[in-house]
Amino acid sequence: MQMILCRAVPKAMASFPHSRPRKELCVWPGMGQLCLRKNLLYGFMRLFSMPFKTIRNVSRTVGGVSNFCSITNMANSLQIELVPCLQDNYAYLLHDMDTGTVGVVDPSEAVPIIDALNRKNWNLNYILNTHHHYDHTGGNLDLKERYGAKVIGSGLDKERIPGIDIALNDGDKWKFASHEVLVMETPGHTKGHISFYFPGSKSIFTGDTLFSLSCGKLFEGTPDQMLSSLRKIVALPDDTNIYCGHEYTLSNSKFALSIEPRNEDLKSYASLIAHLRNKGLPTIPTSLGNEKLCNPFLRTSSVEIRKSLKIPESADDAEVLGAIRQAKDNF
Ligand SMILES: [Zn+2]
Repeated sequence: MQMILCRAVPKAMASFPHSRPRKELCVWPGMGQLCLRKNLLYGFMRLFSMPFKTIRNVSRTVGGVSNFCSITNMANSLQIELVPCLQDNYAYLLHDMDTGTVGVVDPSEAVPIIDALNRKNWNLNYILNTHHHYDHTGGNLDLKERYGAKVIGSGLDKERIPGIDIALNDGDKWKFASHEVLVMETPGHTKGHISFYFPGSKSIFTGDTLFSLSCGKLFEGTPDQMLSSLRKIVALPDDTNIYCGHEYTLSNSKFALSIEPRNEDLKSYASLIAHLRNKGLPTIPTSLGNEKLCNPFLRTSSVEIRKSLKIPESADDAEVLGAIRQAKDNF
């Protein structure tokens, strides 16, 4: 499916001077070939490991996970590129091919972003922050000074977002070029955490609220708040691509398997994760549908998880989420 998409170069892409075939779009050198390998690998592993009844969903699930290093949405000309930062952070470059507008989500440091922009010969118009932590905003001021980019963040946390220009709140709609962006307040990790949802690209940037196979630590919020934030995200379509702030998936998979060892979807996903990380490849984006099948923090009603953690049957979902979070903190 990916190869077909790559051949179907849209008019906007053909006319844009920096647009090139797919292998040139990846931030990491030589990743194009590896992207294809991941697609094939994931497809085969899913086919051979998933229960028969779910095989009909292969194309949807594979599509949600496979476009990991550079996504070009043919319908609305938005490219999303992953930029590794610090030890295990991901920033994401957004590029509207029609107008050349460029944004970056959660630049924890400036240098890798500048390098990626230089490679593309791109300017930077916007900096989008999901929350105030240094490993999501550390590059704000340098990038703002260098490019004159506008900083966008939570209105609830504007005192803690370096260089903020545009403060947005829950339910606000903002435009990145022609792309609608819905702002969702998703507190729990921090009180002013927001997620940026791009419905036209079926993509959401979840910062440290939802990771693949986990959620963020509850530094400034309660299990109730995190549950409510996760439920907002879970209400989106299953084929939504989840772009989170960290590459934690391998260690998350070990914890998830420890409390739900008989989850067949989780077992096959964990095998894929181990293989990808062994090759040095990212596991992001994941898809919401995949997370609903495998992520323990989205599976608070799982009988197996409740039994593993000795949580009483009478416990509500927030209590279960709190217990899973505590168990993971001590894992
Ligand atoms: Zn954080």
